Amino acid sequence: MLHMSTPLTNRRTKILATLGPATDDPAVLDAILAAGVDVVRLNFSHGDPSAQVARAEAVRAAAAKVGREVGILCDLPGPKIRIERFAQGKVALRAGEPFRLIARDDAPAGDEQQVGVSYLDLPRDVKTDDLLLLDDGMMQLRVTQIEGDVIHTIVQNDGYLSDRKGLNKLGGGLSLGALTERDKELIAVAAELKADFIAVSFCRNAEDMNEARRVAQSHGSDAHLVAKIERAEAIENLHEIVAASDVVMVARGDLGVEIGDAELHGLQKKIIRASLEQDRVVITATQMLQSMVESPIPTRAEVLDVANAVIDGTDAVMLSQETATGSFPVKAVEAMARICLGAERQFDHDTDFEKAPRNLQRSDQAIAMAAMFLSEHMQVRAIVALTDTGGTTRFLSRFRSPAQIYAMSGFASARRRMALMRDVNPVAFEYRGISAREATRFATRQLFEAGLLNVGDHVIVTNGDEMDRRGGTNTLRLLQVGVNGQAVGLASL
Ligand code: PEP
Repeated sequence: MLHMSTPLTNRRTKILATLGPATDDPAVLDAILAAGVDVVRLNFSHGDPSAQVARAEAVRAAAAKVGREVGILCDLPGPKIRIERFAQGKVALRAGEPFRLIARDDAPAGDEQQVGVSYLDLPRDVKTDDLLLLDDGMMQLRVTQIEGDVIHTIVQNDGYLSDRKGLNKLGGGLSLGALTERDKELIAVAAELKADFIAVSFCRNAEDMNEARRVAQSHGSDAHLVAKIERAEAIENLHEIVAASDVVMVARGDLGVEIGDAELHGLQKKIIRASLEQDRVVITATQMLQSMVESPIPTRAEVLDVANAVIDGTDAVMLSQETATGSFPVKAVEAMARICLGAERQFDHDTDFEKAPRNLQRSDQAIAMAAMFLSEHMQVRAIVALTDTGGTTRFLSRFRSPAQIYAMSGFASARRRMALMRDVNPVAFEYRGISAREATRFATRQLFEAGLLNVGDHVIVTNGDEMDRRGGTNTLRLLQVGVNGQAVGLASL
């Protein structure tokens, strides 16, 4: 009845790894899962969707082989503005020289004087003196004049520009919507492959997230939606976007380009805090161990960056190029796991009830709050949530408490979503047809036998009193582990 679907780990912060050519070798895939990847990201901006579908299948097979459950996140490309191609693939540009962007379908192949752009409305969204940042800011162009569908600029730095590089405007303000026709097609692909998460790139407001949810639902997907915060407008509308999402991503790549790198550290903290306050799961992403694309060890600055994200309270940290195309994908995951564990040892688990919501609307939220309060004041070792959908677990895991949370669910999709939540160990547990008391006794004994509980430990178990009803956690029991792992009830509410 109870089997540990995921080898239980002491690491609390979750690891999201992007798959790509570097992880296509089955041995590498096995090794990154063994090194601790909790959720994989399929980046639909690159490659054919069929290659990503094949990766999803490979991950499921590799995870099943070792009795693991690994979540799958499909990341939509979104309306990333790109320049078109050059006749020679690449040009060298020099500071002070003029360069034109041509917003026309029939723009000729680019050269040292000009190149096409994919977003035909760009001339209407820019004005003289705007700074356009290409290739994540490696090449900067200052707008001098707009003439019909031609944007005249002056190159600001010496450098190279190659085919299909991204284009941002410093400060944001480009009017294009988040969900493109291509994104809608890819949501259908994500629904078909039963993605656990779908990430919406460049969302501007809650309506962008609502639209994505409608499209996903129309394809029969109940994937959790991830809002990637990477536009200036998304910062202005942060609270409504968080409310309309299940998960939030601090997408530091594009965000750093649009907002400027000086603001990034403050925004990371603000986005993490806003997500936790609204009971949302939050991922910190991009360039976390960037040097490991080419190096077997991270720089000290990267170690501290990952550790700081853990201390900021992120649920998960993400690897992009490091695992997708890097030379050391396994070492990158190992480094991530090691650094998270080290940072967690330093983390001050001070459950801050000041930040807790005051107007509780739901019984599962009320039970979760009560559990965390007791846990803080009675040195509870573990909280066992008998949960169907993971709702209670989400509320429990928003506090950064020292207790480990074991989320016992009979639903594999709920377990895969909970794999992204900090402090949560999802466990396969089918408790239908048995009483809450029996399930509690059984679960605590199993954790005792797995060495995760000791005699004398306090444990909290939460469940719904109608065990066969989805959702509806309304009961909490405080227990103490006795000899042979027999739990003795101390209090219940
Ligand atoms: C980012 O910009 O930080 C990000 C995560 O998005 P992508 O990797 O899709 O550019």
